[in-house]
Amino acid sequence: MENAPIADQLDAFAALLELGEANPYTARAYRRAAETIRDSPSSVAELVRSGRVRELRGIGPGIEARLRELVDTGEIAELAELQRELAPNLVGLGRYLGLSAKRSMEIARALDIRTADELRVAAAAGRLTSVPGIGPKTEAKILEALGREAEPRPRRGLLLNRARELVGGIAASLDAETAGDVRRWRDSCELLAVVCAAPDAQPVLDRFAALPQVVEVVERGERRAVGVTVDGLPVELVVAEPERFGTALVRATGSLAYVEPLEPLPDAPDEHALYRALGVPWCPPELREESFSGKPPVLVEPADIRGDLHSHSTWSDGKASVEEMGRAAKERGYEYLAICDHTPAVGAVRGLTADDVRRQAEEIAAANELLAPFRVLRGIECDILPDGRLDLPDDVLAQLEWVQASVHGGQRMPRPELTKRVEEALRNPHVRCLSHPKGRIINRRPENALDLERVFEVALEQGVALEVNGLPDRLDLRGEHVRDALRAGVEIVCSTDAHSVRGLGNMTLSVMTARRGWATPAQVVNTRPLRSVLASRR
Ligand SMILES: [Zn+2]
Ligand SMILES: [Zn+2]
Repeated sequence: MENAPIADQLDAFAALLELGEANPYTARAYRRAAETIRDSPSSVAELVRSGRVRELRGIGPGIEARLRELVDTGEIAELAELQRELAPNLVGLGRYLGLSAKRSMEIARALDIRTADELRVAAAAGRLTSVPGIGPKTEAKILEALGREAEPRPRRGLLLNRARELVGGIAASLDAETAGDVRRWRDSCELLAVVCAAPDAQPVLDRFAALPQVVEVVERGERRAVGVTVDGLPVELVVAEPERFGTALVRATGSLAYVEPLEPLPDAPDEHALYRALGVPWCPPELREESFSGKPPVLVEPADIRGDLHSHSTWSDGKASVEEMGRAAKERGYEYLAICDHTPAVGAVRGLTADDVRRQAEEIAAANELLAPFRVLRGIECDILPDGRLDLPDDVLAQLEWVQASVHGGQRMPRPELTKRVEEALRNPHVRCLSHPKGRIINRRPENALDLERVFEVALEQGVALEVNGLPDRLDLRGEHVRDALRAGVEIVCSTDAHSVRGLGNMTLSVMTARRGWATPAQVVNTRPLRSVLASRR
């Protein structure tokens, strides 16, 4: 058994524990264990067999017992039991239709039904209103939702990292390719899809329906199905005939705006054959947002990145020490890592005073002795105060090797005030990069009103770079804005804003977001060797 399906089973188990309102810590422990297993370079099944699996972080005796059962028997008995008891398929369908998990389980209990088909029958027979708490209005809503065509779109976008995990897991289990928004690295994914090639579609559709991630199939055709997860997220599977796989993959990857002008697409077994037949150069999926049939530029790649210029340590709200972060960055093959902890004005978490900055320098120097020739850089993520001044005095900033300037509080300031505030900060001669310029938190906080055109002008004049923040709920600048910045001549930095060793892995998200903005290696500051990064501002 491979690591990915083991992790998927633990995730499915965690989802059911949550539904059953078990101790939330238990569910979280299973989710964390699933993450660890997915990331583990060694075979977890072998570790289980040799009795060494508890060497992995976060795996205690309880989880070890489940893993042993899973490796020995191929399933977790309690998972099957919980599935019978909790009707996760009804919950998934219910969430997809807009019902809470609690409401779906009430329906399941009151009407003694377990499957989506039974729900449809009960609804059609008018039995829903006999469930306590369901009146004619709710019934009408459910009937209407059940009657709609299956629409493979969640009610709101899924964060890219979670979408990659979900869709990537399903694709790996079916030997399929990820498609949809995930393959284009969209910042918030709505179309979750996988495509595979098989002469006979039925066995693949059956395997799809039996995956631990898929609790209910809401639509099934000859070569296509839509399944929902326990969270109510719809995922589409397309099973192409092998001689048409390339065609199906391009269509399922999208976007519609990109694909439509290329239609009618010829039949092709793979993408490259399809593009050859069209007489169009192959296009990286990240660029397929608008009509384009030219030759794409050579885009920046994760392997071009020589260091990470925005990370945190235990000095502020990070989880790892300066040395641990440095060592992890070195193991990634980087040449440098800037530790940019917060300053006091950030408010919610600890921020560094001028005195802390001096004391942290000693710790950084010690880490550098151990890690040389790798370099941990003395950085800061300095808050921009409401009047545009920075949160540390100039003589302190002058000692530092990399200064990120950030707006944290006051994201809702009106456009002229916010723009002026940021402009002021960019004129400080020590600032090297503006962090997460639009300040959004995907699904939670909209973008701020900052006038980017104006910021580009000042950044260009001052030689300040703009960040492409790789935190999965930020991805800020986003692709379109990266493209605008680069067109204006501004340079970008691909950063993770890592708060842990694991967080350094978000570099891929940052780089792919930069690629969505057509970034080439020369436009990204941290593709350069240390001495040119450290050279003073242009
Ligand atoms: Zn920040
Ligand atoms: Zn930060």
